Amino acid sequence: MVRGDVEAALWQRIRPDGGSGESGVEVRFSTAPVEIVGDGTVVEVELEDVSTGRRSRESFDLVVGADGLRSTVRSLAFGPHERFMTTWNAMICAFSLPGQAPSFGAQDSLVSARSGGAVWVFGLADRAPTALLTYCAKDVGAQFTGDRTERLRDVFADMDHPAVRHVLDALPTTTDCLFDSVHQVKMDRWSTGGSCSPATRRGA
Ligand SMILES: Cc1cc2nc3c(=O)[nH]c(=O)nc-3n(C[C@H](O)[C@H](O)[C@H](O)COP(=O)(O)OP(=O)(O)OC[C@H]3O[C@@H](n4cnc5c(N)ncnc54)[C@H](O)[C@@H]3O)c2cc1C
Repeated sequence: MVRGDVEAALWQRIRPDGGSGESGVEVRFSTAPVEIVGDGTVVEVELEDVSTGRRSRESFDLVVGADGLRSTVRSLAFGPHERFMTTWNAMICAFSLPGQAPSFGAQDSLVSARSGGAVWVFGLADRAPTALLTYCAKDVGAQFTGDRTERLRDVFADMDHPAVRHVLDALPTTTDCLFDSVHQVKMDRWSTGGSCSPATRRGA
């Protein structure tokens, strides 16, 4: 299953007519928190409409940070990313392939690996496969400079399998590619600003 399917299911479910039998969930686009202040009972959040720059303040019972590895909510509530993101000196690149690698079946999955790098193709039942490239890198920051396709061709130059070539040749044609460093978030605690009463939990 690809992440987009999870997102599509979520959108389907939260719409007023999404079959949940409940009223729809309000979704605001282009909105990001810029300040979070809690006193243990209520959380004041300053929100910015990033398309206009307009800011407003709102109160909530509970704020949950579900905004990813480089969570803005976490940085506002706990501190800078560097304090919590351990680095694994590794990179990933994931994208959908236009078609299966030559000589493999539509739903075949394959892994070509060597020390320090691997190329994966995940066969899927209802669409073309997705590719995942993983490799070790001493200087993670340097990986984000220069031409990405050239960099990955260099990294995997010693893996001359037709399936690897197929993946690398597809890379410049993709419009939806995830390329990022690998981190683990480590925190002593995952909540701050007091405890929730049962009433607050019900209302949140
Ligand atoms: C290539 C790859 C393969 C993986 N494979 C697996 C696997 O097989 N199994 C597994 O268990 N885990 C896997 N993981 C890890 C898994 O994807 C993550 O652990 C998980 O997605 C983290 O969920 P999250 O909700 O914290 O963040 P995310 O999934 O990153 O979701 C955060 C969302 O918040 C959105 N967002 C950020 N800011 C705002 C804002 N201001 N307003 C609105 N939206 C905002 C982002 O656009 C994003 O959609 C994989 C990760 C990668 C990168």
